[in-house]
Amino acid sequence: MQLDPKTWFTEVCQEGGLAFSLAIKEKLHEETTPYQHIEIYQTEAFGRLMVIDGFIMLSERDNFFYHEMMAHSALFTHPHPRRVLIIGGGDCGTLREVLKHDRVKEVRQVEIDERVTRLAEKYFPELCESNDDPRAHFHFGDGLRFVAEAPANSVDVIIIDSTDPIGPAEGLFQAPFYSDCRRLLGDKGVLVHQSESPLIHLDLLNKMRAEMKKGGFPQVRTLTYPQCVYPSGWWSATLAGDSLSSFREQEAAAKTFSTRYYNVDIHRASLAVPEFLR
Ligand code: SAM
Repeated sequence: MQLDPKTWFTEVCQEGGLAFSLAIKEKLHEETTPYQHIEIYQTEAFGRLMVIDGFIMLSERDNFFYHEMMAHSALFTHPHPRRVLIIGGGDCGTLREVLKHDRVKEVRQVEIDERVTRLAEKYFPELCESNDDPRAHFHFGDGLRFVAEAPANSVDVIIIDSTDPIGPAEGLFQAPFYSDCRRLLGDKGVLVHQSESPLIHLDLLNKMRAEMKKGGFPQVRTLTYPQCVYPSGWWSATLAGDSLSSFREQEAAAKTFSTRYYNVDIHRASLAVPEFLR
């Protein structure tokens, strides 16, 4: 069967030798910003879809796996997270999850491309429903520069919700950036960065872990979770910090907010390391 590009969106993952397609009803928006090309589609089965430079960022139907794992794994790993910094994350789905934690008193989100956030407000309003929370502060600029200039010991948790390591996000995967993050976090802080597919991007994943260590983090730990619309359908996030062997399990078990994927058993299970990743 040939897929008609008028009714199917296809993401080609060259490095994996695969492609993934979603049936679309219509293209809702398209624009080129100074940083990237953004498209929004209405799909047949996955709700709305955001695509940047040809790569799927999120779908309405399955973004909760990614956003919940990025936010709650890091926040329940830190003993007392009050100040959170999100780098990237312009669709605001991670921000919404972070703001579910009462312990969090302040969240700064540094997104290079303001258009991503403006389009999320219009096309993905449910992800932006907490944007008016007085604890949320938006900065539109380069995350690399922000962390280079921010004061030491000013953040408890850094969440790097970035695009892939090409274009403006490239430096976010390198030791000098992680070293700046380490300075902001001090030795009690926790960092988490989306770390691509363990099956397809294993070299990159290993390199990220090495760069985090080079940047000064003594421990790194990778967790995995499903993400159907990303290449291979299986994704990862890598934590970096001083003490990652445990998380606040009792509090995660008694969490007072609702989630669709994350719970204490999922958190434990996500940390299990398959043989080929050891
Ligand atoms: N969940 C997504 C994924 O893994 O494909 C990421 C989604 S989020 C929309 C990624 C954001 O990172 C984009 O909006 C992009 O503009 C932003 N970004 C890329 N490089 C950046 C940088 N250097 N500083 C701040 N934001 C950056």
